[in-house]
Amino acid sequence: MPIGFHQSIAGGISMAPERARELGCDALQFFCHSPRNWNSIKISEGEKEDFLSRVRSYGIRSTAIHSSYLINLASPDEILFKKSAGLLIKELEIGEELGVDFLIVHPGSTRGRDVDFGIKRVREALTFISRSRCGSTVTLLLENTAGSGHALGGSLVELKKIMDGLDCIRLGICFDTCHAFAAGYEISGHGDVDRLVDNIRGEVGLESLRLIHLNDSMAPLGSNVDRHQHLGSGRIGLEGLGALIRHPALREIPIIMETPKGSEKDDQRNLSVPESSL
Ligand SMILES: [Zn+2]
Ligand SMILES: [Zn+2]
Repeated sequence: MPIGFHQSIAGGISMAPERARELGCDALQFFCHSPRNWNSIKISEGEKEDFLSRVRSYGIRSTAIHSSYLINLASPDEILFKKSAGLLIKELEIGEELGVDFLIVHPGSTRGRDVDFGIKRVREALTFISRSRCGSTVTLLLENTAGSGHALGGSLVELKKIMDGLDCIRLGICFDTCHAFAAGYEISGHGDVDRLVDNIRGEVGLESLRLIHLNDSMAPLGSNVDRHQHLGSGRIGLEGLGALIRHPALREIPIIMETPKGSEKDDQRNLSVPESSL
């Protein structure tokens, strides 16, 4: 399967595939603008061509944009809700221009309202977005979360309820191992991974699973705390993470690591884990 990291776009959007190539990766994730800023950037024709030609010539097989952290499709606040849907549409447009496969979004926070309200709200947003970008070449992926506070998406069942029956744009799931573990999905042993895959099959369907965020977790099982850790240095550990990437049902699914980047060697060390597990 294609493997890579979340890469910085410092120096321009085409620096993301450049950084992937330096590590020898064939998958890539990036923010298409500052994730803490409402202003989406306009990509120039030159930048777009540069990005596309690097992705092609470097043999990068899977590309994903991670949406802005400000977007909250479950917000009870009407202004924030509309701004969120509007920014996600702009990110989809950028994704289409850059030929990326996926745009990943967290389902959002209800800010204290109940889960049913949140699910209805996100479905309303996705219906609006899919009408606006009907037939988009980019598949929108809902990412599972650690389930902290009022965040939706700690359970895969919630993601399934959000997506059910929506069409017009392609939808799928991005499964983050750190978030899942923190939300209570045990992954640390071989048997746990078999049960997890059965859970995914039963709760959302394996065909919906399009991308894996492979991260270890600093926080314990079921803690609802989202703290990414280097592979093998966290509470999940190498047995479970190795079993997950070797699982026959998941073999074709692209892997992105969002592990800490403390030193230059960190990405190389994390990359050696899936490479030696395959
Ligand atoms: Zn995420
Ligand atoms: Zn993630």
